[in-house]
Amino acid sequence: MRIGAIEAGGTKFVCGIGNENGEIEEQISFPTEHPELTLPKVIQYFQGKQAEAIGVGSFGPIDLRPDSRMYGYVTTTPKPGWANYDMLGTLKKVFPVPFGWDTDVNAAAFGEAKWGAAKGLSSCLYYTVGTGVGIGIYLEGQLIHGLVHPEGGHVLTRRHPEDGFAGTCLYHGDCLEGLASGPAIEARWGKKGDELPMEHIAWEFEAYYMAQSITSAILLNSPQKIILGGGVMQQPQLFPLIREAVLQNLNGYVDSRTILDHIDDYIVPPGLGQQAGLCGAVALGLKALNEKRE
Ligand code: ADP
Ligand code: ZN
Repeated sequence: MRIGAIEAGGTKFVCGIGNENGEIEEQISFPTEHPELTLPKVIQYFQGKQAEAIGVGSFGPIDLRPDSRMYGYVTTTPKPGWANYDMLGTLKKVFPVPFGWDTDVNAAAFGEAKWGAAKGLSSCLYYTVGTGVGIGIYLEGQLIHGLVHPEGGHVLTRRHPEDGFAGTCLYHGDCLEGLASGPAIEARWGKKGDELPMEHIAWEFEAYYMAQSITSAILLNSPQKIILGGGVMQQPQLFPLIREAVLQNLNGYVDSRTILDHIDDYIVPPGLGQQAGLCGAVALGLKALNEKRE
């Protein structure tokens, strides 16, 4: 089976072909430019590839409401050219196959649930901590969309007592993304995350913010697995710091052996590594194909 996959990111687009086992057979990536430059490259890549379906996991916000006039659009992004852009429609005009369409983080959560760290489970959360912060939510075997789609990266966040940094979010200042994204780390310390030493206090702050969000998410959604991906989470020292802070925050309140005894297996990096998003797009494509056949 040949399933097309598009991981549409604000920095780069990754396109590929995967199979029904989530194995990526080939892939290509290019920087995200103006859509009039980027979409033709996507289309050119898939021409002649004979994909039976295509899944798209996209940066957003995007419109996911099937009955909306703007379904398939990127909506309010400040990224030049992309606001109110009909990404899905542009692709559908060229390729007459079933399309899956969801947020980049929901795609990654779905891929991880199907083939990665949450395989066999009916729920997980997928965090990406990179240029932005996003949280994909998979509960009771379903990706969650709700009214628009969840935007867990923008939840207002209590500031670390020693953190005087105002936060980088254009909308909220010190929301989770404003305090804990890669650009927030760089603006706070004057250095990119990968240039800061492992023992720098930056990581304690980062763990504080991530643990705060994860604690709330555990209380709100009770997920069976929490998966942390994205560039910033390449810092391995963050995992033990975050796990410890989550246990402290919960203070024994959630009476689950999975959390209390096995936190190392509960808060984990993506099982699919850097491929979580692309595999997730394959999973979305596969789902669209199966729904078409039913
Ligand atoms: P994007 O979110 O744009 O798709 P990434 O997930 O790689 O891409 O996120 C990029 C952000 O993550 C940048 O702000 C960068 O400084 C930060 N980053 C990338 N790699 C690392 C690393 N190894 N350690 C800490 N921060 C990193
Ligand atoms: Zn925000």
